[in-house]
Amino acid sequence: MGRERKTGMRSLTNPRVEASDAAAPNPVESVGGPYHEREELAPAKLARRLMLAAAAGSILWVSDSQGGMLDSSTWAAFTGQAPSDALGAGWQDALHPDGREAVVAAFAGGLEGGHPFAVEGRVRRRDGAYRGMLLRATPDTGETGTITGWVVTCTDVTELTPEAPPRTTARTEEGQWPVEGAIAWLNAVLDVLPAGVTIAGPNGKLIRVNRAMREIWGADAPLVGSIEEYDVYRAWWPDGTPVRPHEWALSRAIREGEYVRNQEITVEGFDGKQLVVLNSAAPMRDASGAIVGGVSSMQNITARKRAERERAEMEARAFEADTRFKRLAAAGIIGIVVADEARILDANDAFLSITGYTRDDLDAGRVPRETMTPPEYVALDDASLHMLLTEGELRPYEKEILRRGGGRVPVLTGAALVSRDPLTWMSFVLDITDRRRLEAELRDANARLAAATLEAEARAGQLEAIFAALSDPLVAYDRDGRLTDANPAARALIGRNLDTANGTLTAEERVARLEPRAPDGRPLDVGRWVRKRLLAGEVVTGADAADVVITTPDGFERHTSWTGAPVHGQEGEVVGAVAIGRDVTERRRLEHAVAERASQLQTIFNTMTDGLLLYDREGRILHMNAACSTLLGADANPAWAHQTHRDRGLAIRHRTPDGELLAHEDRPLSRVLRGEVLVGEKAMDVLFRTLDGRQVLLNCAGAPVIGEDGLIAGAVLVLRDVTEPRQIERERQAMLDMVTHDLRTPITTAKAFVQSVRQRLEHAGHSEGQRLARVETSIEQMRVLVDDLQDAASLERGTATLTLVRCDLAALCQEVAGEQMAASGRDITLRLPSHRLWVRADPNRLRQVIRNLLSNALKYSAAEKPVTLELTRRAGAARLSVRDEGIGIPRSALPHLFTRYYRVPGASVKHGPAKGVGLGLYIARRLVEIHGGTIDVESTPGEGSTFWLTLPLSAPAAPPH
Ligand code: ADP
Repeated sequence: MGRERKTGMRSLTNPRVEASDAAAPNPVESVGGPYHEREELAPAKLARRLMLAAAAGSILWVSDSQGGMLDSSTWAAFTGQAPSDALGAGWQDALHPDGREAVVAAFAGGLEGGHPFAVEGRVRRRDGAYRGMLLRATPDTGETGTITGWVVTCTDVTELTPEAPPRTTARTEEGQWPVEGAIAWLNAVLDVLPAGVTIAGPNGKLIRVNRAMREIWGADAPLVGSIEEYDVYRAWWPDGTPVRPHEWALSRAIREGEYVRNQEITVEGFDGKQLVVLNSAAPMRDASGAIVGGVSSMQNITARKRAERERAEMEARAFEADTRFKRLAAAGIIGIVVADEARILDANDAFLSITGYTRDDLDAGRVPRETMTPPEYVALDDASLHMLLTEGELRPYEKEILRRGGGRVPVLTGAALVSRDPLTWMSFVLDITDRRRLEAELRDANARLAAATLEAEARAGQLEAIFAALSDPLVAYDRDGRLTDANPAARALIGRNLDTANGTLTAEERVARLEPRAPDGRPLDVGRWVRKRLLAGEVVTGADAADVVITTPDGFERHTSWTGAPVHGQEGEVVGAVAIGRDVTERRRLEHAVAERASQLQTIFNTMTDGLLLYDREGRILHMNAACSTLLGADANPAWAHQTHRDRGLAIRHRTPDGELLAHEDRPLSRVLRGEVLVGEKAMDVLFRTLDGRQVLLNCAGAPVIGEDGLIAGAVLVLRDVTEPRQIERERQAMLDMVTHDLRTPITTAKAFVQSVRQRLEHAGHSEGQRLARVETSIEQMRVLVDDLQDAASLERGTATLTLVRCDLAALCQEVAGEQMAASGRDITLRLPSHRLWVRADPNRLRQVIRNLLSNALKYSAAEKPVTLELTRRAGAARLSVRDEGIGIPRSALPHLFTRYYRVPGASVKHGPAKGVGLGLYIARRLVEIHGGTIDVESTPGEGSTFWLTLPLSAPAAPPH
């Protein structure tokens, strides 16, 4: 026992601290004055020594009541600052500049709160790397109960946060950002984000704006220091009133903690440019829930607004094209039929192809006029015929025609009277099934179409009506290129003033006014202008449609696509041309947007610090970003990227982290090309010797790319250099082992020691006993911490072992509830079933889970509130629930509750000792899960929480041992 204690104490002693302690004056008598002058009180000194030892290589410092550092040795050793530079507020210089302000503000806020608190921030290590650190501060209370100083411990949590999966799925499964990854990702994202982003500090001081935001406000925009100064930014609400400083979304987020979404305002940059933006903002809070700043975003919707206006214009101008005929956008071919009451006398090829009959059928009188119309259209046809007879003309209407051999064709039809006696008329039939067919068959149909155009105009003007119903612009030219006809859609597109009779302009001049140009903006050679091509005898169909950008007379830029055919005369000479255009402005805009998105993606690829590789289905490299060539040292062998999958593998050998050679078919790319998705936990660590001879450990994530046909069309791999993180991970494990194995015994010993000293002091009526009790509490907390760390580590590694036996859950509940009642002095209501519930489990582990839930319920509810532990049986499972009527848990916290190190921001303990480290529920979840059960919570803030878990019942027949 004696020897054991000695060893324990030696390992707990920090020589550096001991040396300064030796020179200390009597500590008990010096009260007040700066901390280092009055020196520490005995219990604090002991606590500090113990904590220093517990921290084993981590960082601890003491500060005055204002947070000024008094003892910089461990901090300076970590950060590489000169110890004298770190004193006072100097330690803040080691914080990362991005976010320094927020961390300092959160820290100051915590000090003001007067309770233990924690702040997370990034701290520069002596090698220059920034580490995510958890700064945990505990107040040191003097004789009078006032806070005389703080003890701050700093834990490196960079590697303790869950491993980040590849950036393409940048969020971890648990919804947390790994600290370092998060900052790099945030920076990359901020800079490629098309939305403007501003980050502001607690008073509204602007700390950071991204590139998009600078573009909105102009390069000269100042970064003001407070909300009051926001009036230098000019902006208006949609009703024209100016946006005042406190009305900004950001101001509301910072002052009121509001989440403001998509407020439309017009802003004027410092370069005078006005933009319409959607402005959103959200507050930023620290671990204690205090607002430490805000984030504001602005989405520039000026172009969208303009497009909306343009669309409204377009709609107004297209008004006369009856919406009923909108689907004519996919138009048909015009069939022409001459008929009398009994039969079809003549028809053109187009009509035959619409209806599926042959010319032989026609000649033999086998085209039945009557039965061609489905019964439900007969009445409509008769009415139309009647109108034709009484009024001599007929507005086009839609109907269907039965094709030979089955099927129906929707058509637009119109008619003109040829003679009254005998009654003969001519019908025009437009197939409106499929516009593409028009394009394909235009070659054959056009001559007839054009002829029909002219003929019909001469006869009854009915075709004009069909033209009018077409929502695609259609124009006809004579042999000299003069416009002879244009439908309303064409007029709307290229201007109304097309009346050839009163026009003094030649066709060339008229065309020139539209400023025709190629899609890339080059002025279009008049010879390429579709009219010229058609008149030269060329048939222009879908594949080589002419894309022409024009400026309409009212100043709008339209993208049009034209097809058409020449009209041939009797001798085969070109007598004119017909062209059908289509307004493809919207489509081009879409295409443009897609191209823009692609270039954004490219930007992201190149901004990524992870290596990114795109492959085709054969495993050939299609694309490799800059980070990837750096990772693989590809510059040393540029030919490598062009080799086959197999050959590349010979140049860069794939090995497991243990150095074993990976077979070709086990390589990440081979697996992904077979359809496996390697993300998250499935991502593979592969050891490479790079082309320039370095050894790197890369984490390879990947997924197949599925083509439109549903087959694998290629693959994407994301490579992340984990050489250092894995090394650190190993070191962390080693340190955890060290901490847990080497400290547990000394802590237990120290606890027993302090306990016995306290009892002795108390016995002798010494007041020091009280303080020692505090020391005891902190040793106990340390013990819990060490246990939790070890548990979490072994659960995470999967090395936790369970000793499964049959246990009686009710008995376990009773036992743990009793123990918790004794420790807290509170009552726990037990609701247990009358029969026993047997589960196969490790009883120690179950006790631990129940203990955690009960102690949380007791901690987070007031002493007078009831806590209930209930055990029931539900569908082959045992269900255990712990209900409290405490502070409850906000909705936003629920998804994170069972993750490592998570604690609800701002939640405060209502009863009993201070909070833990946020490992309890994580451990509980893992333990329940490895027992085959589930755990969850239901909670209403302010009303209380019910944590429940289920465990499979062991088979009833199982023998009881
Ligand atoms: P801790 O050691 O901080 O208690 P846990 O993992 O056990 O860690 O719990 C995580 C967090 O969940 C706690 O910090 C607390 O904010 C919240 N919490 C847990 N149990 C309750 C409860 N019964 N009522 C309210 N909040 C709770």
